Amino acid sequence: MRTQVAIIGAGPAGLLLGQLLHKHGIDNVILERQTGDYVLSRVRAGVIEQVTQDLLDEAGVGTRMHRDGLVHEGVQICVDGVRHRLSFKELVGKSVMVYGQTELTKDLMDGRAAAGAPTVYSAQDVALHDVLTARPRVSYRAEGKAHELACDFIAGCDGFHGVSRKSVPASAITANERVYPLGWLGILTDTPPVSDELIYVRHPLGFALCSMRSPTRSRYYLQCSLAEDIESWPDERFWEELKPRLDDEARARLVTGPSIEKSIAPLRSFVAEPMRFGALFLAGDAAHIVPPTGAKGLNLAASDVQYLARALVEHYAEKSDAGLDTYSERALKRVWKAERFSWWMTMLLHRISENSFDRNIQLAELDYLFRSQAAATAFAENYVGLPY
Ligand SMILES: Cc1cc2nc3c(=O)[nH]c(=O)nc-3n(C[C@H](O)[C@H](O)[C@H](O)COP(=O)(O)OP(=O)(O)OC[C@H]3O[C@@H](n4cnc5c(N)ncnc54)[C@H](O)[C@@H]3O)c2cc1C
Repeated sequence: MRTQVAIIGAGPAGLLLGQLLHKHGIDNVILERQTGDYVLSRVRAGVIEQVTQDLLDEAGVGTRMHRDGLVHEGVQICVDGVRHRLSFKELVGKSVMVYGQTELTKDLMDGRAAAGAPTVYSAQDVALHDVLTARPRVSYRAEGKAHELACDFIAGCDGFHGVSRKSVPASAITANERVYPLGWLGILTDTPPVSDELIYVRHPLGFALCSMRSPTRSRYYLQCSLAEDIESWPDERFWEELKPRLDDEARARLVTGPSIEKSIAPLRSFVAEPMRFGALFLAGDAAHIVPPTGAKGLNLAASDVQYLARALVEHYAEKSDAGLDTYSERALKRVWKAERFSWWMTMLLHRISENSFDRNIQLAELDYLFRSQAAATAFAENYVGLPY
């Protein structure tokens, strides 16, 4: 088989890239290790920046998001039982959309199916070959048979644990990493959210987040240790640990119920540099990871894809490689700013240190955020998403 762009991974990065390329008449094949149902069952991101929304519209898959998504014009931060609101609309004139990654993935999959673009699910043993030449190839197994896909370029959109980044010799890559000594224990419930907006909670017992997917479906997170075993977290224990961290109004409005999903995600900051190796271009979690505190992971995957799709269109339509040659540098500039913001929010809101100096710095920073128009504006500008 031959295609112009072989895309590894059918997460948001791979699917969105495929859709944008298809719009510009560029052939692409997606190879995905899991089944489509498995990909759709992963409950993850939920906050979509304005620029990501625009890109989804450009890809022709934004209709359902605009119909069912929840527009959020602000966010709330609760510090030791007292809630403060930061209005994106007033501070920077923008908003974000709350729309689940599972729904967005479904829209992208439906768009791809409607376009008739090929996706190979359950592709096993995906391996990249000759990426430093003009004739790269990808080999894989599907339905018990060995296959090979010849292409012009390979887009490594296969997430943090994927094969693409690992195909590059370690000496050619700089891995910048920070691992935090904690994780997020998350549950999804069919109960109404405690608030119309997300509430980020800083509390001596630890961080919590009250989020949602719809007016009837809530997503809650608790800071937990990395050694935590999910089996030791029956729903009752989760609710009992959440309640004391909330303010009185949120506690009174909290409707508990059985979880329909429960998982633990470790917190990590990671950036691989560069993001291009010959014909291989890394995008999304394959190249970088942020702790989920700033809601940037999916949005960063989309911004990489934006740079990469434009560069590939330039290559094929305008016969210019300027965009491909500067892809890594341009993508990384935005990546590092989102890494900084996600790290900052993580350090600001979690119980990480038992040192009273660190705790007081957290509280001083939060007080400054609530009192200074300049600090609040910088927060809002980063949260809604920096321009491409
Ligand atoms: C609990 C949690 C909450 C989050 N909240 C937010 C949020 O609010 N906002 C936000 O923006 N982000 C959030 N994120 C991050 C977001 O989910 C990811 O950044 C996003 O999924 C990245 O998309 P991706 O396509 O790059 O990678 P992935 O979604 O990881 O997709 C990669 C795909 O590649 C496939 N693959 C892997 N290896 C191979 C292989 N060898 N061969 C073929 N295919 C392979 C995988 O099966 C997968 O389908 C959150 C993440 C978590 C865990």
